[in-house]
Amino acid sequence: MSAAKKSVLVIFTGGTISMVCDQQTGALRPAGIENFKEFMPELFHSEINVEFLPFTPLIDSSDVNPPMWAKLAHLIDSNYNDYDGFVITHGTDTMAYTASALSFMLENLTKPVVFTGSQLPVGILRSDAKENLLTAIEIAAEQDEEGNAVVPEVCIFFDSRLYRGNRCTKKNAEWFAAFKSYNYEPLAMAGVHIKYNVHLIHYPELNKPMRLRTKIDTGVAILKIFPGITEEIVRAILNIPNLHAVVLETYGTGNAPSNKWLYDALRQATQSGIIIVNKTQCVSGSVEMGRYETSLNLMNAGVLSGYDITTEALLTKLMYLLGENNDVDKVKELLQISLCGEMTIE
Ligand code: ASP
Repeated sequence: MSAAKKSVLVIFTGGTISMVCDQQTGALRPAGIENFKEFMPELFHSEINVEFLPFTPLIDSSDVNPPMWAKLAHLIDSNYNDYDGFVITHGTDTMAYTASALSFMLENLTKPVVFTGSQLPVGILRSDAKENLLTAIEIAAEQDEEGNAVVPEVCIFFDSRLYRGNRCTKKNAEWFAAFKSYNYEPLAMAGVHIKYNVHLIHYPELNKPMRLRTKIDTGVAILKIFPGITEEIVRAILNIPNLHAVVLETYGTGNAPSNKWLYDALRQATQSGIIIVNKTQCVSGSVEMGRYETSLNLMNAGVLSGYDITTEALLTKLMYLLGENNDVDKVKELLQISLCGEMTIE
């Protein structure tokens, strides 16, 4: 008896992958599903049943915002029982933010949600769109012998590699290898065969349902430390009305200049209930609070460690935790735990 045909829902949001060149301005702009129909007819005759759902409005991903993340999560939820997996085509510019946000919003995910896109539009001969999209669909449909998803995670598939979505950063604006997960090995590599690193995949509790959590608090800012940063700049950010949390981007293993005014300002902020999390400006490696005096000072000012999390994952985790919880201590506790593989705590 042949196995039942798998079904994958492709939600396309716009991005370069589906763009066309505007005749008048010469700039790339989002276009509809017709592009895929014309340039990838194989999508409609594959061994997998592929259905398309356009996101409205179609966007350049520079325009993405938290309500759109929630809308995408609701689309997955309302179609959850009808498909074996999901692919979201999305612009590369903010894909790592959207993938991170959805990894928190789709709690206890039991099916694959694979983000992909391309550096060249699907209609261009040398485009990376076909390979990225076709393999993303195959991964979204992949099941083990018991019929469970092989990768029940929010992931990004790009240039032959499958990454955990909340570990990714867009690293290149030109080459096809646009993404990298600096602190976590790829979940799979696609060559002649797709080789899964099963030991790296995060598995859900199969006896529990997927739960949607889409409340977001946007009272979050990023404060990047740089040589010459002044007290005025730091205080201007920390005094933003309705600020609830700050991603503090520091040097190396989590260090900041030793000026007393800096620690006084940070301590006053944390004492007033603002959550501040230390994230290294390095793309690879982890914060180690207390390794140097300069980060011990931050610890004493009430700043929390972000370990090896990406800025994209930390920002969206803060928005999600603050949206879903009223209790600041509970948020702080959850920030020190990896919820869905977004950081490594040793
Ligand atoms: N600006 C485009 C976007 O993010 C770039 C891309 O798709 O790669 O929508």
